[in-house]
This record gives sequence, C-alpha cells and structure tokens, in this order.
Amino acid sequence: MTLVRDMNYAVKKLRSSILMYPEASYTFDGTATPLPDQLGRFVRMLKAPVVMIKTEGAFARDPLYNMLQIRDVKVSAKMTYVMSGEEAASKSPEEINRILRDLFSFDNFRDQQQSGTVIDEPFRADGLNRVLYKCPVCGSEGTMEGKGAVLTCKSCGSRWTLTETGYLEAESGKGVFDHVPEWYSWERQCVRKELEEDTYKLDVPVLIRMLVDTRCIYTVGEGRLTHGPEGFHLTGCGGMLDFSLPPSASYSLYSDYFWYELGDMICIGDENALYYCFPKEGGDVVAKTRLAAEELYKMTSKKRARS
Ligand SMILES: [Zn+2]
Repeated sequence: MTLVRDMNYAVKKLRSSILMYPEASYTFDGTATPLPDQLGRFVRMLKAPVVMIKTEGAFARDPLYNMLQIRDVKVSAKMTYVMSGEEAASKSPEEINRILRDLFSFDNFRDQQQSGTVIDEPFRADGLNRVLYKCPVCGSEGTMEGKGAVLTCKSCGSRWTLTETGYLEAESGKGVFDHVPEWYSWERQCVRKELEEDTYKLDVPVLIRMLVDTRCIYTVGEGRLTHGPEGFHLTGCGGMLDFSLPPSASYSLYSDYFWYELGDMICIGDENALYYCFPKEGGDVVAKTRLAAEELYKMTSKKRARS
C-alpha cells in the first residue's frame, strides 16, 4: 500500500512539474546558445525545485551541420539537483541567471578532445562549412566546403582536416584555428564589426512556408528576406506578404540546417504566424544571420538601457 501511495504521489508530482528547454535552440558549434534574461525571474516565481537534465554525447553523435549522418558515439544523460523551491524564491533573478548560465556553459568539441572520444566516420566534416562559413586565412565567405573529413576554402585553397579527436589540423600549418568554437567565435566578432561599421546586410530570395495552426506547415510562395540594423523584413507572395521584425524582438534566432530534410532555414514571426524562410541562394547564411541577430539584440539592448 505504501508503494502504491508513494507511486501516486510521485506521478502527481511529475504531472505538476514543468519541463523546459530554456536554450530553445540547437547549438551550431557545440557550445551553449543564449538563455533568455527572463529565465531567472520565471524560476523565482515558480518557487519550485530546479532539476537539470543534461545529455552528453548527443552533439558528437549527431551534430546539426552533419545532415543526419549519425556517428558511433554513446549518449548519456546526467541529472543534477540545482536548487530547492525555497532557495529559488530567496535568490534574486540575476543570481539564478548566473547559476543557470554556469550550468549551461559547455563545449562539446572540448569534451571530445579531453575525453579522447574517437569519431572516425569518414563523413565527419560533411557540411562543416555551414558553421565555419568564413575563411580565416583569406577572409572570403561562402567559399568553404566541408566534405569527408576535410574542410577546404575554394578561394585560397587552405585545407583543414577534422581529426578523429575533434581538432582542426591545417594542411599548411597556417590554419589560424584548431578549435571549431574558436573559429565560430571569430566569425561572431567579424559580424559584430560589420554591424558596428554598418556594412552588414542579408538580402536573399527565399521560399516561404508558414505555421499558423497545429495542423501543418503551409508553403505559401516565394519572396525576399533582408536583415540589417533595422531587423528582419520579409516580403513576397505577389505583394500579399510584408512582415517586419525589429532587433529587440528576440535575443537569438531560430534557424536550422537541413530542416526536416527540406533545407537550411531561418524562422521569424510573432504570435500570429511563423515564417519559415528557406534561402534559395547566398550560400551558408543561416549561421551568420543567427550571429547577427544575437549581436544586434545586444547592441540595441545597450541603447535601450541608456535611453
Ligand atoms: Zn580562404
């Protein structure tokens, strides 16, 4: 009887729990994506125990850029009791944010290197150009190609091998970076500089699909997506669609590689509709657009705080 009572209690508790995926974005480079500033306030308001479940090995097994090509890597999960409901209620939102950000700090490539996990699949660098879209040797964009175990710049001919333990090894010895997240971080700095110098601009033709209900995604037509200091602007469908989204609307961008095997995708929208935009040209723009959206949000947040 005790067991039944305990089980009923546990089920009741489970039903009343809230499961969150606060990062709400897949990582491109294997490091953490930003958490919303409001998270600390929300956790404090709930006054509930906080438990974190973190998977380990999932990125190495199936990184987003690698197009559904599964590697032979074990995946496990670790559960950590973070704080009690009383502790959550007694801490400031900033303090809770600090604790959660520390817990959400990770680097899957570093984990692979340190654990010596061998990924010897011959396709391990396929699609890596989606993350590392800019050559650090010659500075050109959209000329990178990840194929097999090798990443090549078609502009200057520089080549890197993604080693079996997760390092980038430059063929010439002058590869600048040997770590994927450091290269990605440099790309972020470059985008930030473009934004500050007002030279950043995305302007691509897109196929547009819309989510307006829970039944399906509707293909509605073609259009043009632009992104710059004023945010996103999507037009199309023979003049029937005109949607703008300011930089302050989101701290990050929902974008994805090979989304449901349809193509690379940038998603914008509001409470009425989500617009899934599939760039038809322009190369590997998805990662750069996410970086730009995140940096623009930071830049405009500072301006908003000053005014
Ligand atoms: Zn190059």
